[in-house]
Amino acid sequence: MKKTFLNGILIVAVAILISSCNNAPKKDQVIDSDKHEAKTEIKKDCDHIHWSHHGEEEGPENWKNLCDGFISCGGEAQSPINIITRNTTSENNLTAFEFNYTSSKVDIINNGHTVQFNTSGENAVIINDKEYKLLQFHYHTHSEHTIDGNYYPIEVHFVHKHSDEDYAVLGVMFEEGEENELFSKYLDHFPTTKGDFASEDMIELKGLFPSDLSYYYYSGSLTTPPCSEVVNWYVLKSPLKASKEQIEKFAQILHDNYRPVMPLNNREVLSYN
Ligand SMILES: [Zn+2]
Repeated sequence: MKKTFLNGILIVAVAILISSCNNAPKKDQVIDSDKHEAKTEIKKDCDHIHWSHHGEEEGPENWKNLCDGFISCGGEAQSPINIITRNTTSENNLTAFEFNYTSSKVDIINNGHTVQFNTSGENAVIINDKEYKLLQFHYHTHSEHTIDGNYYPIEVHFVHKHSDEDYAVLGVMFEEGEENELFSKYLDHFPTTKGDFASEDMIELKGLFPSDLSYYYYSGSLTTPPCSEVVNWYVLKSPLKASKEQIEKFAQILHDNYRPVMPLNNREVLSYN
């Protein structure tokens, strides 16, 4: 009995030691040759870094400086972008999406940055002979991408993964119009602060897309830290609809959770009809 108790203390002590090591900033000694002084450069671990869509310190302009792992936020192939339609190139080598979606239960999570629907079961989309598994979908108000400089009130991102270096995100815009069925069902249940709502209903995922699946394609990044440049972006040309009341209610929950548009640099935007 006593031995088990001592073992318990030992395990707790080791656990505290390990976690305190992980939290400790990594220090690199940099010698300034002119002054012959040792400067200490703190390299910050990203695990506990707080970032936001707002403010100077934690906001988008400063994401790249918050910690080492967010360095990509200052990269050359970032998202979102402004899509200038007259500069896009029609591309015959692109293909239509092949949805292997089933119906799915959803767990609706407010993680403090967005409202996210985690899906269950095996759902995937085949694009150009490659299979991308659906991980989740989430919302931004207003849109992150702009089309010819114009914002839409909401943009949804369906996040799919083929590998750590190869994601496909399908972005769909919303415009004001008739009531949106999914929002009618769940908007009252959306957690307004951090939290989640697990639904037992089955959702027909394919029904969340517009009937016209024409898209713009370009190569970019996650639009939130760590901003990894691993995303094949497919921004659909045809928007979905939601009512004025639904858009307003959604905007109140999400508080402008969009990243400003980033420079295109030397990337090309392709168009598929
Ligand atoms: Zn997103």
